[in-house]
Amino acid sequence: MNNIYNVCQLKTVQTPYYLYDMFLLKSTLESAYNAARAHNFKIHYAVKANTESKILQEVNKHRFGVDCVSANEIKKAINHGFKAKDIVFAGVGKTDSEIAFALSQQIFCINCESIEELEVIATIAEKMRLKAPVALRVNPNIDAQTHQKISTGLEDNKFGMPLFELQQALDICCQNSYLQFKGLHFHIGSQIKSETPFINLCKKASEIWHKFGIESYGGSVLNLGGGLAVDYSDPFNKPVPEFEHFFGLISKHLHIPTNVKVFFELGRSLVAQSGTLVTKVLYVKKGLTKNFAIVDAGMTELLRPALYQAFHKIEKFNNNGGAIKNYDIVGPVCESSDVFAKNVALPEIRRGDILMVRSCGAYAQSMSLRYNLRSLAPAYYLHNNPVDALQDHVTTSFNTCPDYIFNFFSLQ
Ligand SMILES: *Cc1c(COP(=O)(O)O)cnc(C)c1O
Repeated sequence: MNNIYNVCQLKTVQTPYYLYDMFLLKSTLESAYNAARAHNFKIHYAVKANTESKILQEVNKHRFGVDCVSANEIKKAINHGFKAKDIVFAGVGKTDSEIAFALSQQIFCINCESIEELEVIATIAEKMRLKAPVALRVNPNIDAQTHQKISTGLEDNKFGMPLFELQQALDICCQNSYLQFKGLHFHIGSQIKSETPFINLCKKASEIWHKFGIESYGGSVLNLGGGLAVDYSDPFNKPVPEFEHFFGLISKHLHIPTNVKVFFELGRSLVAQSGTLVTKVLYVKKGLTKNFAIVDAGMTELLRPALYQAFHKIEKFNNNGGAIKNYDIVGPVCESSDVFAKNVALPEIRRGDILMVRSCGAYAQSMSLRYNLRSLAPAYYLHNNPVDALQDHVTTSFNTCPDYIFNFFSLQ
């Protein structure tokens, strides 16, 4: 179905929809891959950030592994060509059938988050007569200095096992012949903007590695998770995150034996800037003190502002040079939290205008909801490579693309 070349005009395409700049995605993946390779690091793409087929295919082409948080994500990754040995499986509440499925596929390892889970994994492995590869996810009690709802590495977060349980978990791995210990896993949070949390993580991980003699238990992998931030306030200045700087920083502060394989699980930083949510203004309503632009996308297509007060840059596509006014950009969903942004200064908005909500490549489409029985918004893809474009779409990069290009793109 992706091969149907169906040229149509922007105006005839129903909003809302997600628009992905595949050129930017490619450059981002390439930059991340090369920066990691320079330090012999391996990246597993955190699939939950965006699970669209075309995105997964592109990630796979760039030789990344994947980090999955459900059996369905593992299935989808395998169906998109990822090899089982390149899959890691995390999650605080894996079901027995998910664990059994992961083991049956012989993925690289399950990142185990508690003693109880470790025992469940061992029991399931025994029934299946195989050895379960596990890494232990430790909660390092490090402040990721990010929004509290996307912080995962503090003692009062539900994720990982507390450090005081690690020795017991290592002993279980050692004694139980149905477990095969692979190494340690950490993930302290998401949208981490400053260097300090990553430096602290490196120090803590190195310290734990040596203190517990992780290699003496057969550990050969240190997985530092994801969390690298993107610039939501200025998505165009540096649309590709500074991966070289990031991996350089890690390399500098990590002190572990050189034969230990270091993994990362990047999600947001690989895909966020490649996506835009395109929405149409349905009504402009003048309140007592405010102007509301009511658009046809809402929290059902982009949950982040409602869920954690996230900021997304919003621009008007067809700038018709009107006077600048302040608008609250709100969705149609019956919830007062269905607000994308408040007091956004934009040239005068009228019914029918198109707005672009930027940085929607991560945690937007993958978090979409059917609340209010809304239809799921489709995705379209922009290419600057004529061969790809012929197959599915346009001929230039989105960020630099002139208005006319929107007259030519095709349906999925
Ligand atoms: C969500 C998640 C990630 C990805 O986080 P980003 O901030 O998108 O890089 C990595 N590892 C685990 C275990 C996760 O749950």
